[in-house]
Amino acid sequence: MHAPGVVEVVDRPAPRLRAPTDAVIRLPATCICGSDLWSWRGLEEVTDPSPMGHEYVGVVEQVGDEVRTVRVGDFVVGSFFASDNTCEICRAGYQSRCVHAYAMGLEGTQAELTRVPMADGTLVATPGQPDAELVPSLLAASDVLGTGWFGAVAAEVGPGKTVAVVGDGAVGLLAVLAARHLGAERIVIFSRHDSRRRLAVELGATDVIAERGDEGVERIKELTGGYGAHSVIEAVGTQEAMMQAIRSTRAGGHVGFVGVCHGVELPGAELFFSGVHLHGGPAPVRRFLPELIKMIWDRTIDPGRVFDLELPLDQAARGYEAMDRRRAIKVLLRP
Ligand SMILES: [Zn+2]
Repeated sequence: MHAPGVVEVVDRPAPRLRAPTDAVIRLPATCICGSDLWSWRGLEEVTDPSPMGHEYVGVVEQVGDEVRTVRVGDFVVGSFFASDNTCEICRAGYQSRCVHAYAMGLEGTQAELTRVPMADGTLVATPGQPDAELVPSLLAASDVLGTGWFGAVAAEVGPGKTVAVVGDGAVGLLAVLAARHLGAERIVIFSRHDSRRRLAVELGATDVIAERGDEGVERIKELTGGYGAHSVIEAVGTQEAMMQAIRSTRAGGHVGFVGVCHGVELPGAELFFSGVHLHGGPAPVRRFLPELIKMIWDRTIDPGRVFDLELPLDQAARGYEAMDRRRAIKVLLRP
């Protein structure tokens, strides 16, 4: 990306091993994330031309001398943060906040090849080479599925609970899928967009609320006998969405916030008297990868359904535009 709204596909030097713990992988598919739109829209600064993309799957082409758990030829999935998976933070399940965490966006995975640092800690190999139809779902596991899943876990979704999801992008939709899988009794999504609400219902939503902000909060209160939801997943990252999530949650309930916050400020007194639990942040996708890969491999879940537009990588700019205008939920790019 050269500037907001300006994406060009250019030749860059092929990534190479820089540390003995690195791997280099070749990507059969990559994608555009809702969070890439923050800089496309000029809400995050773009000073120099920056490589883009942080979601990836691929076949290992090279490994450094110290890599033990993945081998050349393996098909692997990793998180958008590389992590050592050995420090105390990783072992507690918070790999995205690893003391050595490395943001894969710095490598830019909207590319044919990428370098993955700390390959042993970061990458999880699939049981074999996946069928082509599984690749989009495995790619979704790299971020949007793992992020939606963490949102649901952070919001303490479970059997018998009413769950509300703020945000009908790929993460919100896959939070619906996660909530269903984790046994929620009722799953409400806030959405006013036809194709997204349809997909939400197919993925497990039981109710759709078109209103947003405080009107949306009133509607969820009506649906829950005035209490609010037990668990609310915030998958947008704006002030309005965050307040909508907190106000939609009953006292004692849980908010899982996974939308990257931009300009969000929480009013202390309201937070104090809300009595809700807040937990969120960049999802520790690595924690969930083995389980998510297994469910995709067994065809228990099909998160690849959030990709509704596929383009060759050299048309990436068209993909950004389609997501920005909400003509596409999520764009898959083929290098
Ligand atoms: Zn770590």
